[in-house]
Amino acid sequence: MILSLDIIKQKSDANREENKRFKTFLMPIPTQLVDSYVQELNDKIAPAIDCTRCGNCCKVLEPPVTQDEVKRLADLKKLSTAEFQQQYVGQETGTGIHFLKCQPCIFLQSERCTIYNNRPASCADYPHLDQPNIKYRWKSLMNNYAMCPIVYNVVEALKEKTAFQ
Ligand code: SF4
Ligand code: SF4
Repeated sequence: MILSLDIIKQKSDANREENKRFKTFLMPIPTQLVDSYVQELNDKIAPAIDCTRCGNCCKVLEPPVTQDEVKRLADLKKLSTAEFQQQYVGQETGTGIHFLKCQPCIFLQSERCTIYNNRPASCADYPHLDQPNIKYRWKSLMNNYAMCPIVYNVVEALKEKTAFQ
């Protein structure tokens, strides 16, 4: 298994064309079968990777947040909702989705989430490998492949499992 973020980034760049071919290769395989392979591999690989020694997602991503979560996070930061929103929340143009605009996340300390039990749902769900239709979420999967050791190793194991060449 590869855990080094530098090597994963290099391999992600080097594998760009191969991964395009892999996407095409997966298309004729039934969606539910691909999802079940990913879940099986994720169940094996994710517990073997210690997120508290990585924390990369909390350094480079800006997770979506709901308005209820903004209120909750503002309380935890001992700020009013308006103050928290102004300092730490952005909004996507087009979709209107709110997100935490801080890199690294203000709640990250020593690679650990200091509000783990109160973290936003999108953080708890990351890296989203349990979500269905993985082969139709390829762009997001590849973004995560380049920066998350769990995703990188699951995708590489999926190549082996499906005998991709
Ligand atoms: S989910 Fe991925 S990027 Fe985030 S801490 Fe765990 S291994 Fe690192
Ligand atoms: S709230 Fe916690 S889990 Fe979410 S990005 Fe911040 S540190 Fe990471």
